[in-house]
Amino acid sequence: RKCIVVITGASSGLGLATAKALSETGQCHVIMACRNFLKAERAAKTAGIPKENYTVMHLDLASLESVRQFVDTFRRSGMPLDVLVCNAAVYLPIAKEPTYTAEGFELSVGTNHLGHFLLARLLLDDLKKSDYPTKRLIIVGSITGNTNTLAGNVPPKANLGDLRGLVGGLNDLNSSPMIDGGEFDGAKAYKDSKVCNMLTMQELHRRYHEETGITFASLYPGCIAETGLFRNHVPLFRTLFPPFQKYITKGYVSEEEAGKRLAQVVSDPSLTKSGVYWSWNKNSSSFENQLSEEASNAEKALKLWEISEKLVGLA
Ligand code: NDP
Repeated sequence: RKCIVVITGASSGLGLATAKALSETGQCHVIMACRNFLKAERAAKTAGIPKENYTVMHLDLASLESVRQFVDTFRRSGMPLDVLVCNAAVYLPIAKEPTYTAEGFELSVGTNHLGHFLLARLLLDDLKKSDYPTKRLIIVGSITGNTNTLAGNVPPKANLGDLRGLVGGLNDLNSSPMIDGGEFDGAKAYKDSKVCNMLTMQELHRRYHEETGITFASLYPGCIAETGLFRNHVPLFRTLFPPFQKYITKGYVSEEEAGKRLAQVVSDPSLTKSGVYWSWNKNSSSFENQLSEEASNAEKALKLWEISEKLVGLA
């Protein structure tokens, strides 16, 4: 049978390119878990994904209620779950003031981390039930959260501190919208959320890999400088960023190529190692990359897990 893959945020950029690449293998059916139903349908059509290879289901990660509803809807469809890809993200680099999810968490960490944290935890049961031989749970990471790289050292750097802002619920009512309890900074909040994504993947691996056989992985697909992720940036940045990445840093990768990379992590039989953060070298071959000290700190991963459980209502 076909492999059933749920991809969050498949209505544009990397998620859409991955859905297309998986559809082209002829062996996957993609559940496009998207907040904008019509946009997702249009995107699938424009990308030329055949109707029988995808289903759009509504998911707004900025609402925990919507996450729970998505899980219900998916279960009612009767389809098994073989692979979950946590891909959606928001990036608000020039926001002066914080904005919030339905439950009142700062939007970047609320969407990119907490929404996915609840989704992954709930769908773990479904993954366990699937009879598919190579079940996987993938969370898209990023170089920007990794302070052991050049890109990760561009200020403001990711730093979760002692997680006091997260304990306080990520809003200025109780403490601070930032995980480390500092002043709001949209670019930093995004980077922090990506560190959370990578820590969560490793904690999932430690807790569940042996018992379930599920492969947990993260990746940095390269700098996909033209995606919607930069839609909230200033126009000059959006003009200069792609050529800068292409000719100066040489980290640029097209949406199509990045989609092929993520599709490899979803379905390539040689990429089934669990607990790994994948990257690609200049010849586009994959390798296991090192994470920064903070993004691989097991103690922080555990603390993050326990606080996140409370915030999303699992503990
Ligand atoms: P895009 O903005 O093109 O795609 C992000 C997707 O997330 C969109 O489909 C968007 O939906 C969706 N999304 C945003 N908020 C929500 C929400 N509340 N609920 C459901 N879906 C939501 O960006 P990219 O393709 O670049 O980003 C995809 C992933 O790749 C992210 O995890 C990002 O961190 C990562 N990444 C990107 C890099 C890059 O250079 N671009 C580099 C490294 C990692 P909608 O279409 O409705 O806006």
